[in-house]
Amino acid sequence: MKTYDVIVIGGGPAGLSAAIYTSRANYKTLLIDKGGCLNYKIGRVYNYLGFPEGIDGKELIQLGCKHIRLLGSETVNEEVLSVKMQDDLYVVKTNRSSYAAKGLIIAMGVEYKKIDINNLEKFEGKGISYCVTCDGFFFRGKKVFVIGSKNYAAMEALELTDYTSDITIYTNGLKPEIDEGLLEKLKAKNIELKTQRIISFTGGKKLEGIILEDGSTVKCDGVFIAIGSSSAADIALKMGIILEGGYIKVDSKQRTNLPRVYAAGDCTGGVRQIATAVGQGATAAVNLIAELKGLASADYY
Ligand SMILES: Cc1cc2nc3c(=O)[nH]c(=O)nc-3n(C[C@H](O)[C@H](O)[C@H](O)COP(=O)(O)OP(=O)(O)OC[C@H]3O[C@@H](n4cnc5c(N)ncnc54)[C@H](O)[C@@H]3O)c2cc1C
Repeated sequence: MKTYDVIVIGGGPAGLSAAIYTSRANYKTLLIDKGGCLNYKIGRVYNYLGFPEGIDGKELIQLGCKHIRLLGSETVNEEVLSVKMQDDLYVVKTNRSSYAAKGLIIAMGVEYKKIDINNLEKFEGKGISYCVTCDGFFFRGKKVFVIGSKNYAAMEALELTDYTSDITIYTNGLKPEIDEGLLEKLKAKNIELKTQRIISFTGGKKLEGIILEDGSTVKCDGVFIAIGSSSAADIALKMGIILEGGYIKVDSKQRTNLPRVYAAGDCTGGVRQIATAVGQGATAAVNLIAELKGLASADYY
């Protein structure tokens, strides 16, 4: 497994800014972004310093990628699925590989996950969960569904096999976008993949099943929602990072509650703008570098 001084997760303004600082300081840096600096979502930006005529969001990000590569950062176009501590290193698992680093900067932005199924709120915490690491234990030996269509749903389903063998993934009408390797693992664990749309959750005091588009009811004991990709909050929650209002909680140095783990940009809430993301990325990197040098306890910065 390749080992780095710093891994930056997310190649938006916050992550790119952080990588500029870590790589200029000669810290071996890997930036992992699932869009590979190519799929940037925002259009023309008119409120970022230095561009009086505005700049295309995509161009800004591509320039940022060029910048960090020139400084020696490595970049990979992969999706981070989980992070675990192993022998004092953080091991970042993606859809293709695993990488280790002494320090981590989480800059994954926010993803707006919406699921339009009746009675969702009614059964949240009463059979419906968003985190296998947190709640899988409660479903030992039970019949459980995972709702999602991407790698993240496959990973959640595979993690559930620690607790039960009766697992089905429902893509809720979406075309599955799961890597071949993960599909094989699902097959090996007898995890079925179904594409029917779900209309409603049903039950009494607790969840008892789902109602499908054709009106039929399928009984189950639990449902894990794993739509979209793995978000900053999903990853952070599983690592034991404290969240506040769905965002990663950081202090004024962008430190999380875990050693050598910092977060920056939209995933930490606050003023969700490019300028703030860039500033927080720099703050996170400078303070992580200080911590790696053993200076943090002296509150150097
Ligand atoms: C439509 C729109 C218009 C906007 N217009 C403006 C504007 O004009 N001016 C302005 O200042 N701000 C604007 N914003 C806000 C601005 O885009 C954000 O504040 C800024 O991009 C935040 O930067 P970030 O680095 O924190 O997150 P992001 O820019 O969201 O970057 C996060 C990166 O993390 C990656 N990522 C996420 N999950 C994973 C994973 N599991 N594995 C690997 N990579 C992952 C994503 O691919 C993404 O590249 C706009 C936002 C939107 C949606």
